[in-house]
Amino acid sequence: MAAAISIRGVVKRYGDITAVDGLDLEVPEGRCIGLLGPNGAGKSTTMRLLTAQSIADEGELVVLGSRLPEESKASRAVMGVVPQLDNLDTTLTVEQNLIVASFLYRVARTDRKEAIERAVRVARLGDRRDTKVDELSGGMRRRLLIARALVHQPRLILLDEPTVGLDPQVRQELWALIDLLRSEGVSILMSTHYIEEAERLCDRVTIMSHGSAVAEGTPAELIAEHAGGEALEVYGPPARLEEIERESASKGLRTRRTGTSIAILGPNGDAPDGERRPANLEDVFVLLTGEEIA
Ligand code: ATP
Repeated sequence: MAAAISIRGVVKRYGDITAVDGLDLEVPEGRCIGLLGPNGAGKSTTMRLLTAQSIADEGELVVLGSRLPEESKASRAVMGVVPQLDNLDTTLTVEQNLIVASFLYRVARTDRKEAIERAVRVARLGDRRDTKVDELSGGMRRRLLIARALVHQPRLILLDEPTVGLDPQVRQELWALIDLLRSEGVSILMSTHYIEEAERLCDRVTIMSHGSAVAEGTPAELIAEHAGGEALEVYGPPARLEEIERESASKGLRTRRTGTSIAILGPNGDAPDGERRPANLEDVFVLLTGEEIA
């Protein structure tokens, strides 16, 4: 299958900091790929490299057949970008923001009206087209950001933390919108630090830590490979949890601490007071990145 995005051995340094450190990443056409990692892992830098806002120090980036940064103009014409920070023009209405975008993306004059209608429809903002952006809710603004990225009917969409800071119900509305795009065959690269978001939306996930990919696969593959498919969750006072941690380590079993419990990962955990549960992507994330979930 052709690749919508191909990243090979990419390095990006900022002085002494290596933000992206030998990253390999592929987004096959028509797939939704998640870039999952803790704060500072290099997700946003990767996104900026793909839009040629930053230039890689080493490695190769190809977006829909165009090499970056040399052919960034061609790649931008077929790519929609949804930034993490809302940069909508708050003095304009929903429709006016989309009209401006249609000019920037050089949508042909004869196609403009239909392109804007389509974007408004997909983002379900039809009844808000004459509303000024500063009167929209947070969720509507985020939907408008996505609509704006769709006016030129891109084949690929980059979503940088699309639901960060939104409440769960609004997040689910956005998931439905992203899922719709995916079902229409748009290729999607989405960065997120919400595990559930990656699990629900993405065909494949790359887990990033300290600038490089530490694991790649479908959520089910990652869970089977890195967390042994199941876990034994034990609740108890801190002293009991420490005891289990020590015992498990001596048997070569991996554990994961949460506030009030400890999970022994894999099928061989042994504790009479434990409860078996399926392992999940959060277990994998914590194991591989060393980060706890907030
Ligand atoms: P977050 O979820 O917090 O946005 P991230 O995974 O997107 O995290 P990046 O923003 O890509 O991570 O940052 C990766 C590393 O590079 C961090 O250590 C960050 O401080 C550093 N970094 C990013 N941009 C710059 C810059 N313009 N100048 C200096 N350092 C930078």
